Amino acid sequence: MTQKNIKDIDSKWYARRVLITGGAGFIGSHLAEMLVNTDCFVNVIDNLSTGSIKNIEHLMDRENFRFIMASDSDEIVMDRLISKSDVVFHLAAAVGVELIIKDPVRVIETNIQGAHSVLKIANRYRRKVIMVSTSEIYGKQNNPPFAEDSDRLLGPTTCSRWCYSTTKAIDEFLSLAYHKMYGLPVTIVRLFNTVGPRQSGQYGMVLPRFVKQAITGKKITVYGDGTQSRCFCNVSDVIKALDDLSLCKEADGQIFNIGSTEETSIKGLAERILELSGRSKDKDSLKFIPYEEAYEEGFEDMQKRSPEISKIKSCIGWEPKVKLDDIIKGMIEYEKSKL
Ligand code: UDP
Repeated sequence: MTQKNIKDIDSKWYARRVLITGGAGFIGSHLAEMLVNTDCFVNVIDNLSTGSIKNIEHLMDRENFRFIMASDSDEIVMDRLISKSDVVFHLAAAVGVELIIKDPVRVIETNIQGAHSVLKIANRYRRKVIMVSTSEIYGKQNNPPFAEDSDRLLGPTTCSRWCYSTTKAIDEFLSLAYHKMYGLPVTIVRLFNTVGPRQSGQYGMVLPRFVKQAITGKKITVYGDGTQSRCFCNVSDVIKALDDLSLCKEADGQIFNIGSTEETSIKGLAERILELSGRSKDKDSLKFIPYEEAYEEGFEDMQKRSPEISKIKSCIGWEPKVKLDDIIKGMIEYEKSKL
């Protein structure tokens, strides 16, 4: 990477200066790429714990892009970056159901400390924050679609899955409190299952995993009986919603669901992936694995999860455009290119 001169960056005109925490991750890198192609200056901060330099290396030589390898809980670095930003997209988080089960200490510390540092410093300089939260907030509620003001239903604290939902709820409470007490312009977004190129199957994430299994001739590992359902939204739709909300004053102090409403069972997803990748759909191509074997004893899954999206639609006119079949085709192409 060519060394960028800070003075040049500071003195040049840009429509907006944005900071993306976790910008070397899956969603953050897509957002960075989209904004670099506008007249914004894009700072990405990432400690590369789950993000990867590979996700952003194609942006490194762009004059309106800078990567800072640091943690978002490093308040000295964050103060400097946020003071020079118009908006902070807080995407850095420990995510993925497998990571949550394997390393709950990291999940709790990362998710709470990072958000607190962003909110505290953004408030110091009155900067807009997009606080990225999750559909896990709704827990195991079984009456979707979930609206932003729906009740939450969580299992016991002995089931580590719920610590993720709880840390994100703390981030939401803290964001709402900063808005209420100090008028901080912060918008909370709850992302439902988001998919697309660069998503890693390493920490769970069913779609990249199934696609990789399908194209390498392996059995598709369906957890439980596969009747549980999800709605998958393409990352290109999600980043558009994030950017539009960051420009919308009426969104301050509000919570929005972002997700697709096209629902599929996980078994149905496996079969569609087999079909679109040219594999036969006989019963031997699927391998059903009990939850306690896939995760841990006492694991609780959500049977159904889909968002109510009328609120975001009436605020910024957003709705998802990419259909599930096209998402799967794109993922097959992407995973094949990596083989
Ligand atoms: N899943 C599966 N096989 C896998 C990985 C995940 O059947 O190899 C299931 C998982 O149990 C869940 C769904 O796929 O019911 C979505 O999982 P993911 O971790 O992608 O997201 P979640 O919605 O659970 O956060």
